[in-house]
Amino acid sequence: MKKDDIVILKIEDFNTEGLGIGHSEGLTLFVKDTIIGDVAEVKVMKMKKTYGYARLLCILTSSPDRVEAPCPVARPCGGCQLQEMRYEAQLRFKEQKVRNNLQRIGGFPDPPMEPIIGMKTPFRYRNKAQFPISRDKNGKLFAGFYAGRTHTVIDCRDCLLGAKVNQTILDIVLNHMEKYHIQPYDEATGKGLVRHVMIRVSSEMLYEENYAEENGNALSIAHDGVNEESFCNWQRAETIPEKTSGQIMVCVVINGTFLPESERLVQALGAIPGMASITLNINRERTNVIMGRQIKLLWGQEFIEDTIGGIRFRISPLSFYQVNPRQTEKLYGKALEYADLTGKETVWDLYCGIGTISLFLAQKARAVYGVEIVPDAIRDARQNAQLNHITNAEFFVGKAEEVLPEKYEKEGIHADVIVVDPPRKGCEQSVLDTMLKIRPERIVYVSCDSATLARDLKYLCAGGYELRKVCPTEMFANSCHVENVALMSYER
Ligand code: SAH
Repeated sequence: MKKDDIVILKIEDFNTEGLGIGHSEGLTLFVKDTIIGDVAEVKVMKMKKTYGYARLLCILTSSPDRVEAPCPVARPCGGCQLQEMRYEAQLRFKEQKVRNNLQRIGGFPDPPMEPIIGMKTPFRYRNKAQFPISRDKNGKLFAGFYAGRTHTVIDCRDCLLGAKVNQTILDIVLNHMEKYHIQPYDEATGKGLVRHVMIRVSSEMLYEENYAEENGNALSIAHDGVNEESFCNWQRAETIPEKTSGQIMVCVVINGTFLPESERLVQALGAIPGMASITLNINRERTNVIMGRQIKLLWGQEFIEDTIGGIRFRISPLSFYQVNPRQTEKLYGKALEYADLTGKETVWDLYCGIGTISLFLAQKARAVYGVEIVPDAIRDARQNAQLNHITNAEFFVGKAEEVLPEKYEKEGIHADVIVVDPPRKGCEQSVLDTMLKIRPERIVYVSCDSATLARDLKYLCAGGYELRKVCPTEMFANSCHVENVALMSYER
């Protein structure tokens, strides 16, 4: 097989980036925009020894799971990979992906999996979006998302995963830039001012809640599947007026220290109901990292507030916060169930962010200690404890791989339960080794990457732990990512 060959393929699986996988002549081909079950005519674009990449020419037989994507830029945009797959099938795929990783990487022949916790409505769930600003061929400014694998910006101001108010905000920012001749940042030259517009909204601004209210909450929340009726009807939400409660944060990321005529921008944005925080983020580095370290307040507060499971959280622009609040509540509920607290336990929450899981656990534990690398997040965590009158949670700034071993070696700390929620790359080995030394009765592992989860679970099992349960949880509907909670225990 060589470049430009035209091949007919049956798509059998997705790779980790959501490309369809098919086989021909003993070789593997990856094809964007196909879904499992499609039979497609494809053109080979690039060929390596055993695998290659092909472009979809036409679908010959549609997968029974194929649906029309509601978003007009579903294919070019890098945000969604599975929008053309029926939601029910997306969930089955994600469960299977987790099972495969636990088997292949983790070496668990029959992993103890619970059914995936799916969403009722897989749209309008994201509370955060970061829009790069660009110019089209005619010189007109636009905002959107990067295309998959490249930094070409796809025009999309109303992402169907996000809040409707995003579009209003972007229009105001783009107008402001046009009016005062403010240039968008150009990655190639490092020139230009405005890099990204980051928008965060509290849960009330998101679709599901609006929808449920309008419909008297008539639709049941399916535990392990999806309510077809709600899925078909989600578009009706477009006619529902925007809610005016809830809070909005806008952070304009600039390659400079000052935004021209910013008071006029503030005036326009401040008129949006719910606007609570308008800030600049200074990022003058030639880097792919979206946010710089410095925040300048333009208007309102430097944070917004959100409530999950009855606990109030304040969130700063630089702090991590789960993007899907409704599912987060279910995720943390599962973590709490697995932690199985009676009120006597000492709990460590590593990679704690703004203390979300820590404060959930603190209500049922004797003491909770959180560790997190971002200082702003720890500042939020401490404030959040106060805000909720929680006095048995303490927070430490630092790397989990440094703080935990140090606390163990110097202070001989004890833990009944350790919760970890690391970024995609998983836990550093020194964190795992220290956990094995501390030997808590239970380890609850929250993970957004089932491959590194499987690797780390295998390591902990080799150290004497047993994998009890794994529960995949939908956090990123229409993308190929899936969140998980796993419970391990040590039998004395
Ligand atoms: N448990 C939190 C945050 C999870 S995201 C929640 O559910 O909201 C992972 C967090 O780990 C981020 O806040 C990130 O800043 C932090 N982090 C990344 N590397 C770290 C490290 N080496 N040590 C401690 N925290 C780290």
